[in-house]
Parts: sequence; C-alpha cells; structure tokens
Amino acid sequence: MNAFKGKAALLALSIIPLFASASHWSYVGDEAPEHWSQLSDEYKTCQQGMNQSPINIDTTLKAHQHPLEVHYGQGPDVVINNGHTIQATVEPKAADSITLDGQSYALQQFHFHAPSENTVHGKHAAMEMHLVHKNAAGEVAVVAVMFNVGAANPELDKLWSVMPQDAEKDATLKTAMNINTLVPADRTYWRFSGSLTTPPCSEGVAWLVMKHPLTLSEAQLEKFTHTMHHDNNRPVQPLHGRVVVE
Ligand SMILES: [Zn+2]
Repeated sequence: MNAFKGKAALLALSIIPLFASASHWSYVGDEAPEHWSQLSDEYKTCQQGMNQSPINIDTTLKAHQHPLEVHYGQGPDVVINNGHTIQATVEPKAADSITLDGQSYALQQFHFHAPSENTVHGKHAAMEMHLVHKNAAGEVAVVAVMFNVGAANPELDKLWSVMPQDAEKDATLKTAMNINTLVPADRTYWRFSGSLTTPPCSEGVAWLVMKHPLTLSEAQLEKFTHTMHHDNNRPVQPLHGRVVVE
C-alpha cells in the first residue's frame, strides 16, 4: 500500500509541471475571460494590456487602404478540436499568405468563434473566422471574416463534415479547401492594433477585419455551437485611444 502511494506521489510530481507551464482557461465558470489574468503570471497582459482584442468597431479613420492582397493556394490538411475552438492547421510548405505593408505573412492556422468576438456598431455576427499569419520576424496579423446566418456555405462543409466532436481530437480533410472562397470577394477591411483574444493575450497583433460578411446556414452554426458546448468569444475590450482605420 505504501509502495503504491509512493509511486502515485512520484507520478503526480512528474505530471504537475507539465500542466503548470500552460494554465487551463475557459469561456465559462472560474476560468472565464474575466479571470484569465489570475490563472497564471503569463496571462497578466489579459488584464494589464492597453491594446487588447476583440473590440467594437464604431468610429473609423479613412486612410484609403488598398484591398487586402491574399495568396491562398493549398489550404489545410488537418482540423483539430482543441477544446477552445475548431482549428484548421496549414503546413508551412503550403505557402498560403497575405501581403501587408509590403511584407509577406504566412498563414499558420484558422479557427472560429461563435458568436463573433469583434463587433460592428455594437452588433455581433453569428460567427467569426480568424486566419492567423506570421511574417519572417514572427509578427502576427489576423484576418477576421464575419459570418451571418443565411445560405449554407459549401466551403465550410469541407471542414464541418470531419469536425471532431471531442476535445483533443483531430481529423484529416477529405476534400481540398479553397481558402480564397472563405474571404469575401470585396477585400476592403478595417485595421487596428490588438492582441491575441485567448491567453496569453499577447499584443502587437495587426487586426484586419473584413467589412463584408459571408453566410452560413442555421444548421452549420448549430453544428459548431453544439460541438463547442458554449459560446467561445471573449468580450470586447476598451480601445484606450486606439484608432480603427479603413
Ligand atoms: Zn480567434
């Protein structure tokens, strides 16, 4: 009995540091967004940061930006349910990218939030997709696409049909995706400086929210929200003097 207890204690000791390095967080209960900064020292920016995302897009400054330049070719191979979202991972060799300020930002992954995280004039879209990119210096740019309920989205079905129902499960896509069709044909956008919307809420993220929404069907939205069990959107954060340009 003692030997068993000793072994269990040793096992516990060897496991604890693994979990301590990345504290658990959630969208509900004791680990909901208002508590993120208390869950780990590494999450302090969630509370102390002055450039946090998401935001409410309201007053904007006209800067005559060119429409977004996207170069999406190969698309993802794998979709995972990480317990926080459904995420499609893009291989670096795929060379899917955007051009921003004359620099190339390579697509890493894209994932979904329902309802939307950013709001426009105080209104949520039914769902928001985040395409996460990095440039050679490791700087992050996120392209956000809003989805309202309407016509079914056939491109989403390629992901939705293999969407893992359980957390920490992944699946391989059966049909190749064309990510270009998940970005509105009108590529005008709002731009602002923000953060990751999940812990550690790191700042210095260039946010590009597409002005024109796409649609998904009620059934597609339900499949996502049912799989997530609850809303997976962080509430909007104070602007602290930031300007949204268009
Ligand atoms: Zn996101």
